[in-house]
Amino acid sequence: MEDVVIVGAGAAGLTAAVYAGRKRLKTILVTGPNIGGETNSTNDIQNYPGYEGPGPELMKKFWEQAKKWGAQILEARVTKITKPKDFVLELDNGQKLESKTVILCYGRERRKLNIPGEDKFFGRGLSTCTTCDSPLFPNKETAVIGGGNSAVEGALELARIAKKVYIVHRRDVFRADEVTVEKARQEPKIEIITNAVPVEIKGDKFVKSLVIEDVNSMQKRELPLQGVFSEIGWETHTSMVQGLLETNAAGEIMIDAHCRTKTSGLYACGDLTCIPYKQTVISAGHGATAALEAYKFVTGGKGH
Ligand code: NAP
Repeated sequence: MEDVVIVGAGAAGLTAAVYAGRKRLKTILVTGPNIGGETNSTNDIQNYPGYEGPGPELMKKFWEQAKKWGAQILEARVTKITKPKDFVLELDNGQKLESKTVILCYGRERRKLNIPGEDKFFGRGLSTCTTCDSPLFPNKETAVIGGGNSAVEGALELARIAKKVYIVHRRDVFRADEVTVEKARQEPKIEIITNAVPVEIKGDKFVKSLVIEDVNSMQKRELPLQGVFSEIGWETHTSMVQGLLETNAAGEIMIDAHCRTKTSGLYACGDLTCIPYKQTVISAGHGATAALEAYKFVTGGKGH
């Protein structure tokens, strides 16, 4: 029987592991291979207090610190969590863990376009991260799909490097902040195409074009280019914990200010929750909160 099982090893999970370790809780950290999570995809962190530099390096420090405080690491995926009495976690390697508390911090996944060419050209001209991969497209023709802050900010970043950037958005109203959209409209290298959806990514070994379709006229247009960035947001997967928590309209896990879900002893923190700003520093703070709550629960049984 564990005191706490932490699911996920991004900024939230690794911080929770440090706090749980320092409280001498019997802790297992279950994680997939991507130790460090989303912070790993940022090459230039400028807003983590006390640290400026590549995301993976910061996450390596988190990881070393979690190990130092005794977190037992288990590489596996959790497939189901139930709570007959204490929590039971089923893993994809057939193992079962029992624990008094569980902290969920496995992040979210990038939404997929579900169009032909998406899988084939991923990493061959198709990317889901302008921040990470813009430097790979100097003087190239590119497109960014999406109308949120990630897409429009990404297009502006890309325009500093690429020759041409199309923004392809399925509506004519943007989710991105108006000031950012205004900047994009004024950038000569950017061409904004609204009311259009991507229907196919074409190429041979690498991307050669993006086919888009006007949502009103259904007319297709093929944009010759070498780079496509899909920046269409995120999805949170919660089916493995069905019944134990509530989600909001965006599918994010509802928590209170103590990182508590609706089930006593079950906490969530980081990007998979309803917290408004998905930032490394915020995830780290919430990881600490969740671990301290777990400690309170294990030692005093004072959950809620
Ligand atoms: P987002 O705000 O959810 O925007 C996703 C965009 O992709 C939307 O415009 C959506 O269109 C479009 N989309 C979704 N599915 C699509 C599909 N299948 N085909 C074509 N288009 C599709 O995601 P995000 O831009 O990644 O931002 C996530 C969160 O992080 C937001 O809260 C955002 O404000 C925040 N963020 C903030 C900053 C900043 O403050 N500097 C920077 C980046 C991100 P519809 O609009 O039609 O739904």
